[in-house]
Amino acid sequence: MSECIFCKIIDGSIPSAKIYEDEHVYAFMDIQPLTKGHTLVIPKNHKEYVYDLSEEEASNLFKVVPKIASVLKETFGPVGMNLLNNNGAPAGQSVFHFHLHFIPRYDQTDGFR
Ligand code: 5GP
Ligand code: ZN
Repeated sequence: MSECIFCKIIDGSIPSAKIYEDEHVYAFMDIQPLTKGHTLVIPKNHKEYVYDLSEEEASNLFKVVPKIASVLKETFGPVGMNLLNNNGAPAGQSVFHFHLHFIPRYDQTDGFR
């Protein structure tokens, strides 16, 4: 069995608040949100870094980016949004299953820089 927490979230052995799911991609709320609605989007295949994604995996993930961003915009009503990805511990990666952060932004005092 995988030791990866995000693989466990995909297989349901760790609970998560689902935002979106299809055959290839899973999106869920971050457990320690930087702002209201902070969401993570992951490929269902376990890949550690951006360098490991096939073109097909990258395509399957990025083609749902506008849809997920729209759901977050409609649900939480931000006025802006950061999309970011950390690769490797020096870059801030703490979970080694590729993920894209969606961080809705509200105003200058929403706590995230
Ligand atoms: P990283 O630092 O690797 O770019 O981001 C990892 C993110 O995963 C962090 O924002 C952290 O809060 C989130 N995270 C870690 N463990 C869990 C978990 O068990 N459930 C959820 N929903 N998010 C998690
Ligand atoms: Zn994994």
